[in-house]
Amino acid sequence: ETIGANLERTVARFGDREALVDVAAGKRYTYREFDAAVNRVALGLLARGVAKGDRVGIWAPNCAEWVLVQYATAKIGAVLVNVNPAYRTHELAYVVRQSGMSLLISAVSFKTSDYRAMIAEIGFDRTVLIGEPGWDELLAEQAGAADLEARARELTFDDPINIQYTSGTTGFPKGATLSHHNILNNGYFVGELVSYTEQDRICIPVPLYHCFGMVMGNLAATSHGACMVLPGPGFDPAAALRAVADERCTSLYGVPTMFIAELGLPDFAGYDLTGLRTGIMAGSPCPVEVMKRVVAEMHMTEVAICYGMTETSPVSTMTRPDDSLDRRTGTVGRVLPHLESKVVDPETGLAVPRGEPGELCTRGYSVMLGYWGQPEATAEAIDAARWMHTGDLATMDADGYVNIVGRIKDLVIRGGENVYPREVEEFLHTHPDIADVQVIGVPDARYGEELMAWIVMRPGTQPLTAEAVRQFCAGRLTHYKIPRYVHIVDGFPMTVTGKVRKVEMREMAVDILD
Ligand code: ATP
Ligand code: MG
Repeated sequence: ETIGANLERTVARFGDREALVDVAAGKRYTYREFDAAVNRVALGLLARGVAKGDRVGIWAPNCAEWVLVQYATAKIGAVLVNVNPAYRTHELAYVVRQSGMSLLISAVSFKTSDYRAMIAEIGFDRTVLIGEPGWDELLAEQAGAADLEARARELTFDDPINIQYTSGTTGFPKGATLSHHNILNNGYFVGELVSYTEQDRICIPVPLYHCFGMVMGNLAATSHGACMVLPGPGFDPAAALRAVADERCTSLYGVPTMFIAELGLPDFAGYDLTGLRTGIMAGSPCPVEVMKRVVAEMHMTEVAICYGMTETSPVSTMTRPDDSLDRRTGTVGRVLPHLESKVVDPETGLAVPRGEPGELCTRGYSVMLGYWGQPEATAEAIDAARWMHTGDLATMDADGYVNIVGRIKDLVIRGGENVYPREVEEFLHTHPDIADVQVIGVPDARYGEELMAWIVMRPGTQPLTAEAVRQFCAGRLTHYKIPRYVHIVDGFPMTVTGKVRKVEMREMAVDILD
């Protein structure tokens, strides 16, 4: 089934129910109104001559129009290219060129970014700005409804309809190319596991440009007749909780730091969150204390943890509502229905015994078509048997629960011993003066690699020496896991999506140690 056909079935069943609320802009659509608005955008794009397979970019923060463009491009078989709202000219120019974009739909500005100026700077002139006359012109230029029906008949669910660039944590962002089949099914099954129905209202403060918003949010909602509630263009904890209270949301999404910010609001107790039942946390591990408060104080008794990556549409494993709190903090759950996972020895490719770390691999409907324009990178990631090699190190217990222990590229091999930086980082976090810490491997003539800890000190504390750190670890960490070098910093090099770039740290470390 294509996304357009799926939406039409939902409209037929739940036409009068609410589909989308853009709280900040004060816009509301029932499913029937939503479908009509999507069709207007689709007809406008057809009138512009957008052909099947053409790449249409969207570079805007969360807003109702983002969602309209998502479904309109799917209906006409254009390939939506998600552009991160935080990108600057260098990254924008890269994705416009790399994807061969024929049209870019954008907002005028967001936070400190002047999109109009940046688009002008890269010299790309096929653009439509939401809220400007260009957008009204797009809506005014309408192809005939028969053209839309004719186009719908040309589409198949295996067609590419979306290019999403990965976060660029381990290198330059790669464009994961996804089909209707990939993302519609993933959204549907994620929604199924949190029991969405037309009664649900999902608060989506996570960015739509990422799968978390547009698949686990939008597609999960529309495939079950639930309502998408967008609190506003950027993340604001107060706006998110206000939207939950005012719109009587039943589900709330976020990465763990978003929940921490919401729980930390001075007037947290003043928001009526009793309508919440479930929600999804994903992207990074969730501290136990945070999970306990989310369940007890935000009423999200059925909250789920998801693990995935852009290349797998994104979710591969997920906790279930009846999993214990330990499993909802200590693991990323079990594999989704109709998908397979295994943990293999990266050297031999053979499955490792349960409980032992190895590379996590995923297979099934969710595995991307490939990296856009990068056949070699695709062949490296997806093997002949269609297993996606995630590059993540994980363990799987006897019951199938998966635990992410780090990334292969970050694994340090010191004197033949494997060291998982996350384990060392978690231990160093227990030092009272350490605010944040990252551990990397640096080249070493004797051991092949040595460990180096980059430490951010808590305000008002003395910088720790390497000697002091080693003393703290002595007797409590195996000797080969104890960092040899310590580097005190104010922060770490980050991707625009807020992930630490260890690749860059390793390059910098070589210079520091020289
Ligand atoms: P790039 O592939 O460009 O280096 P990236 O892998 O960070 O960047 P994404 O696809 O946005 O880009 O992120 C997927 C990665 O995020 C996973 O491979 C995994 O390392 C991490 N991740 C996702 N969910 C979780 C989770 N629940 N717990 C721990 N890590 C997670
Ligand atoms: Mg990745």
